[in-house]
Amino acid sequence: MLLESEAKICTACRLAQTRTQVVFGVGDPDADVLLVGEAPGFNEDLQGEPFVGAAGQLLNRLLGEIGLSREDVYIANVLKCRPPNNRDPAQDEVDSCKDYLRAQITIIDPNVVVTLGNFATKLLMRTETGITRLRGRTYPWWQGRTLVPTYHPAAALRSGDRLIGEMQSDFALVRDALSRPRSNTVITPPSGKGASPEAPTDKPSDGQPDGKSDGSRPDPAEQMNLFA
Ligand code: SF4
Repeated sequence: MLLESEAKICTACRLAQTRTQVVFGVGDPDADVLLVGEAPGFNEDLQGEPFVGAAGQLLNRLLGEIGLSREDVYIANVLKCRPPNNRDPAQDEVDSCKDYLRAQITIIDPNVVVTLGNFATKLLMRTETGITRLRGRTYPWWQGRTLVPTYHPAAALRSGDRLIGEMQSDFALVRDALSRPRSNTVITPPSGKGASPEAPTDKPSDGQPDGKSDGSRPDPAEQMNLFA
């Protein structure tokens, strides 16, 4: 990707001063599934690839259980450079970096986006609700895609079998979402400051008939604001 060569020399935020290398992403640039984590960690920063080590092995296993390999999907992070000591990303760093993720989504054009962990999930769903409440279902997302939130593999490894089992359930949702055609409803950004006149008409996939937001079910039109 041309975009990747641009990112490799990016100095748009302070993380350029402390990174070993930019970790842009890995996988099939035509993938139907895009997995999005938070930011590179220690090993990723050294190896230049997202989700390596034990967390990466768990991710590979979960993908394998739904008939996918790492080469079939695309894996990226919100931030392309490691925050020192794995601290949380700062808002200005996310603001500086988000155009890369937006471009990745546009170019790869996945049907299903899987957010791994609280940070990526809250950011892409524009919500303060935690991953424990959000996971276990699918959500209509930007431009007719399906979003599947789940735990970060590193968190699941720390917590044990229960979370890994829940991740297996979430990955089964990914498999199911891939078997369905992409929604024709194209969610566009709100025009001006008012509500979008083209708000989606498709219903949440957990069967809520009215499609209203209850705090754990953000309005998909608002999710576009991530990239505003
Ligand atoms: S984190 Fe993103 S914006 Fe900051 S230097 Fe790295 S690539 Fe550039």
